Amino acid sequence: MNTVRVRFAPSPTGALHIGGVRTALFNWLFARHHKGIFILRIEDTDQARSTDESIKIIIDGMKWLGMDWDEGPSILPDGSVKGYRQTERMDIYRENADRLLKEGKAYYCYCSPEELEARRKAAMAAGKPPKYDRTCYSRKEPVPGRSPVLRFHSTDEGETVVRDLVRGAVTFENKQLDDLIIMRSDGFPTYNFAVVVDDVTMKISHVIRGDDHLNNTPRQIQIYRALGCEPPEFAHLPMILGSDKTKLSKRHGATAVTEYVDLGYLPESLVNYLSRLGWSHGDQEIFSRQELIDKFALDSVGKAPSVFNPEKLLWLNHHYIQRADHGRLAELVLDLLKKDGVVAEGKEPDAAWMQKLIKILTERSHTLVEMKTGAIPFIRDEIAMDDKARAKHLTTDVAPLLTELAGTLKVLEPFAHDTIEKAFNDLVAAKGMKLGKLAQPVRVALTGGTVSPGIFDVIEVMGKDKVVKRIEAAVKTIG
Ligand code: GLU
Repeated sequence: MNTVRVRFAPSPTGALHIGGVRTALFNWLFARHHKGIFILRIEDTDQARSTDESIKIIIDGMKWLGMDWDEGPSILPDGSVKGYRQTERMDIYRENADRLLKEGKAYYCYCSPEELEARRKAAMAAGKPPKYDRTCYSRKEPVPGRSPVLRFHSTDEGETVVRDLVRGAVTFENKQLDDLIIMRSDGFPTYNFAVVVDDVTMKISHVIRGDDHLNNTPRQIQIYRALGCEPPEFAHLPMILGSDKTKLSKRHGATAVTEYVDLGYLPESLVNYLSRLGWSHGDQEIFSRQELIDKFALDSVGKAPSVFNPEKLLWLNHHYIQRADHGRLAELVLDLLKKDGVVAEGKEPDAAWMQKLIKILTERSHTLVEMKTGAIPFIRDEIAMDDKARAKHLTTDVAPLLTELAGTLKVLEPFAHDTIEKAFNDLVAAKGMKLGKLAQPVRVALTGGTVSPGIFDVIEVMGKDKVVKRIEAAVKTIG
């Protein structure tokens, strides 16, 4: 294969969505697998809807996911975004459009929207396809007072076959294709034209994108040919659906990358999960980044749409949290605690202690947000007591036991998991009761709720002072 050059070409009109990320990921994996070039190109010709803010969201999202690009825009010190933006390439579109015009492959069209609409309606009423009727193709003189658009003169005869690496050969009858507008009257190119000019000038070898663009491809192939260029290879990726089998959208829950960051997902979970949306390698579910790069191939991309499954993504996040470096998790959880005002800047807990805390929180946690919530009772001086848990577990009969336990713990040395466990066991053995009868009230006293890591771990990490104080305070509330 010649040098692989692929691109992810988002329109910066809002958030970076799961579907876009999957497209970016497949391009990135394909490029990395073939040691090719991955380009990030910003399709911002829709000026009314494109914003720099959205470009930054895309760039941040790509960076967070670890999808680095070999060519693409950069954010300058003053915050502006430069490079690989369509709005910086207007001369190139103009030149190519002029060439098609000169060669008679494009023509100016002066028809007004009202005229077009009236003719479209008439064609439909006559049972004809609502195509542009080429009124302006034979027009010799401009229409005064009107700014024309430039239309591509498409071929009517024969068919255009898209040889898609995922779909196989998909045939389109040329007579169905319209003379589409390639330059608008404001001088901006339309999507189908700009994308071809960009893909030609950027020497793109494979266009890998969502199959919502499949219908555009025969039109684009005709433009390639008119420009005297061979089209690249195409691979159209199947749609991503929600649980009800309709196109994935906000209705199905979080769809933007930033939402997953906020919900406490790790980037590797999202990358692993999205890699399996449409692509497979046997039954394997868990892939390291390197494995994905090694194994990714377009011929293992399926044709059928995939259903987005948030539970599986959560399961993967749990998997990756269990394996993540504790120092890294500690930093991420600290960031969340700072955001929530639980930890003040410069008042971070001791790093070694923080890692101990992380170690005991990981096992039950599916997200960083769960870890943050679990960390709060260890860090704050006060706990938020759940009233139901208090009523159920902090009852008068356990008060004397708690007092006795606090007394034992106060003098316990060393204050560690095993000695704490022994103190518990001795106490319940002496009273002839089950461990759970003591553990649950202690958990409520220490954390304010009924769910936490193993109680001996909690006690060790929380530390003698806090533990004794909280048990004594709980006894007082029972009082
Ligand atoms: N800007 C287009 C989009 O976001 C790109 C389509 C393409 O890859 O050609 O859908």
